[in-house]
Amino acid sequence: MLETAQEFITRAAKDLDWTDDMIKKFLTADHIHTFEVSDGNKTYSAFRIQHDNRRGPYKGGIRFHPEVDKDEVQALATLMTVKNAVTALPFGGGKGGVAVNPKELTESELEELSRDFVRKLQKHIGPDTDVAAPDVNTNAKIIDWMVDEYEQLTGDISRAVMTGKSIANGGSEGRAAATGYGGADVLSEVLKQKGDDKKDMTYAIQGVGNVGTHFMFREEKLLPQVLLVAAADSSGGLSSGFGLSATEMAKIRQQEKKFRDYDSQDTIHITNEELLREEVDILVLAALGGVINKDNMKDVRAKYILELANGPVTLEAHDYLTKKGVIIIPDILANAGGVTASLLEWQQNRAGEHWDEQTVLSKIETYLRDAVDQVTTDATNRDICLKEAAFYTALKRLSEDN
Ligand code: NAD
Repeated sequence: MLETAQEFITRAAKDLDWTDDMIKKFLTADHIHTFEVSDGNKTYSAFRIQHDNRRGPYKGGIRFHPEVDKDEVQALATLMTVKNAVTALPFGGGKGGVAVNPKELTESELEELSRDFVRKLQKHIGPDTDVAAPDVNTNAKIIDWMVDEYEQLTGDISRAVMTGKSIANGGSEGRAAATGYGGADVLSEVLKQKGDDKKDMTYAIQGVGNVGTHFMFREEKLLPQVLLVAAADSSGGLSSGFGLSATEMAKIRQQEKKFRDYDSQDTIHITNEELLREEVDILVLAALGGVINKDNMKDVRAKYILELANGPVTLEAHDYLTKKGVIIIPDILANAGGVTASLLEWQQNRAGEHWDEQTVLSKIETYLRDAVDQVTTDATNRDICLKEAAFYTALKRLSEDN
């Protein structure tokens, strides 16, 4: 995923006539904070990397994972700068992490570790400086502890130092739905731009989790002529020529059941690999990175691929499929609803307001539709694919802000 991002940054930079020095400078972070955090017993390596803040405060998640290392955090921070710029958010890019397996900690150790992270970093973060959020293995509960620690240390009661908080602690309505809903908004806008928005079409979705479920519900409303015919979770998939009901698919997840164990008269069981090969118009990837790769890229039959997960199509597969005419709607655009919700949470905290879900989701829709307009315009004008255009749009905005 990171290799892919670096390649697309380089392609876009060359398109913008950036010199090698400018590219090198862009790939270098403003500040690298490396420190140790304690859970009360053991210590762990921790990082906060602030990549670029020319568009606004550094913004990006904090992950807790044993494999976290400086290079990965730095690459992810760079990608956040690009992602925030493509959607024109007033944020720069940052990322943080602790090399820990949180599943091995007790609740009180986890709380101590989270609070210690803030104690060590307090001077370098703030609502106008660096705004963090949850990421892999971190959640609203952890962010609430961190925000509380920051408030105790600084007296700042705005809670705008981090987003992804619980609703009771200043979190935003609509955050859980934002990524999936936003993905459907992006898809519908791309179909409109390509003149395909009124056609009867079919789609298959891999991953019926938080993102996939909210995508399906929004898609059903926005694009009723696009029929869901296959869906899969990690246990396997279901397919039906008559169409699958989003409500029924979501129910399997809500009841904590597996797709493999679901039976009905009109559906057949398929594997995840078969789902990726389904003869559908649109393939929605909402599970994992790297699922379309050199081993299966030749089997893809969809005309559109929507990347809701991060990096689900490898670089080699992307270039192969794009050459064949497949339209890949890139992750930095397709799943940007989540970070846009973060912006809206930050704005609500700063204004001392709390907006209803509809207000939040319609603001997200506006940001995303504007971003799609800009990216598709750049793609057409420069005769490049949507992924190259998304990076081009972002880097162009960053050049203008220089
Ligand atoms: P989730 O854990 O709620 O759901 C993941 C889904 O993928 C589940 O249905 C699971 O069964 C399925 N899955 C897992 N392994 C699989 C496999 N090997 N084959 C097929 N399916 C598999 O996660 P989520 O929050 O819905 O996120 C989905 C993806 O979107 C992740 O890659 C995540 O990084 C990315 N993403 C999420 C957000 C967000 O706001 N939640 C934002 C940006 C990107």
